[in-house]
Amino acid sequence: TRQWRLASRPVGEPTMENFELVTVDRPEPDDGEVLVKTLYQSVDPYMRGRMRDAESYAEPWDVGEPMQAGVVGEVVESAADAFDEGDVVTGNLLWAEHAVADADELRAVDPDLGPVSTALGVLGMPGVTAYWGLLDVGDPKPGDTVVVSAAAGAVGSVVGQLARLNGARVVGTAGSDEKVAWLTDDLGFDAAINYKETDDLADAMAEACPDGVDVYFDNVGGPITDAVWQLLNERSRVAVCGQIALYNETEVPTGPRKLAKLIETRAKVEGFLVGDYQDRWGEALKRLSRFIREDELQYRENVVEGFENAPDAFLGLFEGENIGKQLVKVAER
Ligand code: NDP
Repeated sequence: TRQWRLASRPVGEPTMENFELVTVDRPEPDDGEVLVKTLYQSVDPYMRGRMRDAESYAEPWDVGEPMQAGVVGEVVESAADAFDEGDVVTGNLLWAEHAVADADELRAVDPDLGPVSTALGVLGMPGVTAYWGLLDVGDPKPGDTVVVSAAAGAVGSVVGQLARLNGARVVGTAGSDEKVAWLTDDLGFDAAINYKETDDLADAMAEACPDGVDVYFDNVGGPITDAVWQLLNERSRVAVCGQIALYNETEVPTGPRKLAKLIETRAKVEGFLVGDYQDRWGEALKRLSRFIREDELQYRENVVEGFENAPDAFLGLFEGENIGKQLVKVAER
């Protein structure tokens, strides 16, 4: 069975050189463990932080060791009471075709409720991030203008639709015309900006938000965030979810600028981690799956086929190659 290991730490943009594909013996489960065959592996922007040897909210990976990833897989051998062979489970496993896991660290996925891959996307970590990040931190009110960056991504596409369901006016940014069309034509965004084709982001953002911005759900940081910042309304809220535009920078600014805007507006800026919502995970999933069943919430998955292509799929996140959740399909059930 194969694993992807961290071969070296990237400086700036990661490359294939930073990854190493190795073949190892298939592991055996001990008491209380199961052997899981990976069906889908997730690749996520936060993994860039784990490649780095620096203080972060997620522990750095060790060079020469297999990397971790969210996985949906099938139990192929069980030494635990909680799971039988054939069960579909999800959890934080490895960039690997097979991995053993403690049964306590896995969650059952019901294949009858929908595609099992959604447990890594809209009905998994990114969905919960969107749900609580928007509703608890962003706290949109009907009639508010909500802006979300990386709006066609896994988190952003759910944020925008939830904001709309809450009666807000929704504006998104994304990096291609195809993404912009998906947001406005299919997902009900009121406006969307292709930031890669826009010379003056501040102008474009002002035009898209004639009444200013009440909630900004920030997935990217950098110039997009600068453009939104100018438009923050009194008592507005900024939910800082991610800063992907800065993840590959070798010299990240150590402090924010233009904080006077916060004095002027009494706006609130709050970072959050989805892990803080461990206790409210089920509540978010229940509402999200109901929205999907009732056709109120759409989602897309960008599936790269083949375990050997996992690093490519990861690197594609930084080029905006994905529409919706980026996944790697590793095996059939
Ligand atoms: P996405 O599916 O949104 O994929 C990343 C997207 O980011 C790309 O598709 C690309 O879209 C955009 N992007 C890449 N580079 C840049 C850049 N330089 N400037 C602007 N946009 C860029 O990923 P997720 O939905 O999984 O994650 C979105 C954000 O949320 C990330 O920053 C992630 O770290 C964060 N996050 C935070 C969590 C938390 O607990 N706080 C939990 C989960 C995610 P485009 O074509 O638009 O450029």
